Amino acid sequence: MDYDALLHEIAAQVRPLVGQGQVSRYIPALATMREDRFGIAVADVDGEVHGVGDWEVPFSIQSISKTFSLALTLARDGEHLWRRVGREPSGNPFNSLVQLEYENGVPRNPFINAGAIVVTDRLQTLTGDAGTAVLEFLRAESGNPAITADRDVADSEAAHGDRNAALAHFMASYGNLENPVPVVLEHYFRQCAVAMSCRDLALAGGFLARRGVRNDGSRLLTGSEAKRVNAVMLTCGTYDAAGDFAYRVGLPGKSGVGGGILAIVPGRCAVCVWSPGLDAHGNSVAGVAALDRFTTLTGWSVF
Ligand code: GLN
Repeated sequence: MDYDALLHEIAAQVRPLVGQGQVSRYIPALATMREDRFGIAVADVDGEVHGVGDWEVPFSIQSISKTFSLALTLARDGEHLWRRVGREPSGNPFNSLVQLEYENGVPRNPFINAGAIVVTDRLQTLTGDAGTAVLEFLRAESGNPAITADRDVADSEAAHGDRNAALAHFMASYGNLENPVPVVLEHYFRQCAVAMSCRDLALAGGFLARRGVRNDGSRLLTGSEAKRVNAVMLTCGTYDAAGDFAYRVGLPGKSGVGGGILAIVPGRCAVCVWSPGLDAHGNSVAGVAALDRFTTLTGWSVF
């Protein structure tokens, strides 16, 4: 596959969409992002990486981090996690509260905010420092020791984090948090505030394309666990637009309100695309379109 030619063609085709949608405003530190950014990178299972556009510019990974905290928690805790968080699509926005009361404080899936807060809580119990566990994994897999969590973004989200605090307290009232709410939120905001480029994220997602095997050849997840993380990405990774994402792209994918999307072609490669303009569901407009073009041009959807 001539990745460079492919990625240039995709970039040219989605160019008219770059700048469409809205940059995230509810986290003020993200509201200043330039709307005209676009980058895409592909890392194949051998760790060879190609990219075009702004593919080496760091951006706020936000909810893409939920993929890694889930994988790290499953690796340590196995199936126990599923007693505290479900794995069904929610059909509701990523920050919704409504289902929690009906389901006794057990969130629908690990990729909506409530579910990711439970996963962070569990990872905090298992590691003593969930934020650092996620950061160290991302540095190791991308081979980029300079990756950090952006303190301004984390503080900005904390200062405007009433919704996430409400979710966390509500779940705590059902006994579904093991650590104090402020501790869990601090680690959750830190993992969301990690800044990485498309290059870094495509490499970091490689273990999901290699059926659980990390870049250094060691195993994080069993093949079956990697399949499960990919399955939850496909069904829940783009929230209440997961059906449309499966329809258009047909790959496991995880989006973030920084405008990034990480998608996995099992057995072949990981793709990361970034463009900050978001649709009403919080997914990058040009990013979804680029991944749509990617699977259309290559035929590499899981379907
Ligand atoms: N940090 C963001 C939040 O909790 C992540 C949301 C997202 O990227 N969809 O609201």
